[in-house]
Amino acid sequence: MSQYMTRTGVLPGRAHAGTPLAPPRPRSLGTHSRPRRVAMLSVHTSPLHQPGTGDAGGMNVYIVELAKRLAALDIEVEIFTRATSAALPPSVELAPGVLVRHVTAGPYEGLAKEDLPAQLCAFTHGVTQAWAGRRPGHYDLLHSHYWLSGHVGRLAAGRWGVPLVHAMHTMAKVKNASLAEGDTPEPASRVTGETHVVRAADRLIANTDREAAELLRHYDADTDRVAVVHPGVNLERFRPDSRGIATGRAAARARLGLPQDAFVPLFAGRIQPLKAPDILLRSVAYLLAERPWLRERITVPVVGGPSGTGLARPEGLQKLAARLGISDVVLFRPPVGQDLLADWYRAASVLVKPSYSESFGLVAVEAQACGTPVIAAEVGGLPVAVRNGVSGVLVRGHDPADYARALYGFADDPSLSARMGAAAARHARRFGWDTAAVATAEVYTAALHERRLRG
Ligand code: UDP
Repeated sequence: MSQYMTRTGVLPGRAHAGTPLAPPRPRSLGTHSRPRRVAMLSVHTSPLHQPGTGDAGGMNVYIVELAKRLAALDIEVEIFTRATSAALPPSVELAPGVLVRHVTAGPYEGLAKEDLPAQLCAFTHGVTQAWAGRRPGHYDLLHSHYWLSGHVGRLAAGRWGVPLVHAMHTMAKVKNASLAEGDTPEPASRVTGETHVVRAADRLIANTDREAAELLRHYDADTDRVAVVHPGVNLERFRPDSRGIATGRAAARARLGLPQDAFVPLFAGRIQPLKAPDILLRSVAYLLAERPWLRERITVPVVGGPSGTGLARPEGLQKLAARLGISDVVLFRPPVGQDLLADWYRAASVLVKPSYSESFGLVAVEAQACGTPVIAAEVGGLPVAVRNGVSGVLVRGHDPADYARALYGFADDPSLSARMGAAAARHARRFGWDTAAVATAEVYTAALHERRLRG
């Protein structure tokens, strides 16, 4: 059983004692059978979308990578997602054993995430129709992602009589507890929806012990139904250059047209207040006020596009850079495919992730896997993703002066980046998707087994 699983192999009648934060206690499920086919639900965003902007981010990457690795374990996956264009085919093969099925629910384009709850009945109907077209027992289990899918999952699972495994990815109560200044809180209706899903799920998969504890504290989840599985990173794609980190950095900078001797703190991901790219810009302004000579050799790439509440002010970050007087050192780049993103990570001196809330923070692990250290906020899953003082630096709070101090360390001592980068690459190797998929399959097996015992 995986080292990353803390509560999945708990058989009925053997529920463990202890706190939700108890250390891993591996148990074997022995001969209990795994599901052969899983229906995965991703209502509001498609695994076929480019991550890094709009509603597409880490969850999309998570679903794609997990589904592929499950298929490699002989668990077929069909992913149901809302069709966002009339031109989409009913289904697309993403990889052998992984099918994406487009469900018509509501108008194709121009539907915001906030409007989706009204379309959930239509979506559930579409999923149920797909079910009706299959022989009985075709799907062994439902795995829903994010509360909108969880809502569909609980209706469909009740109808089909199969277990529901759910991953929250983010939680309204957690987000609302640490909003960026002026950001819009998540509505009460989402909290209610999440509460219903938590009650209905046979298993809840949390990214970290901290997320598991939040499920218990904020949503009164049942300890025995919460399993912790760390997400993975694609270690074939995100890896240091085979010639070494320093040579790889030079080569990546040459490919991206970045100066070889520059200090390069990078932001990558969706641009919205929650992710706090503004804190990186403000801390760079601090840095330049204290060390004006750095202006000649600093480049600050921001790779990604507007998302969430950031869509209300798509040019907000560019305007902030202008107000701070640092437009000349900031490079805004639209979202890129992950192979190119790996080059941005390799080229950077350090990745900066000052998020207000983060259930895990895939870009932090991806950057480390490429041999680049990380400066991150000490929130959510980031203390698991980053080893403070070893593979990067964790900062408490969101004061740009504190981030500037962390940046000084890397700007003043270029060898720090190389030293921590090597440790970061080693640390990231803990987070392979194969391990995460095995642990997830074990969660499925435990949920199925418990259902069968209950009859
Ligand atoms: N990403 C990407 N292209 C970009 C920027 C980001 O493919 O230009 C991907 C990145 O590789 C990562 C995901 O988007 O896997 C962001 O995940 P993260 O957990 O950091 O944040 P989330 O989007 O889930 O809030």
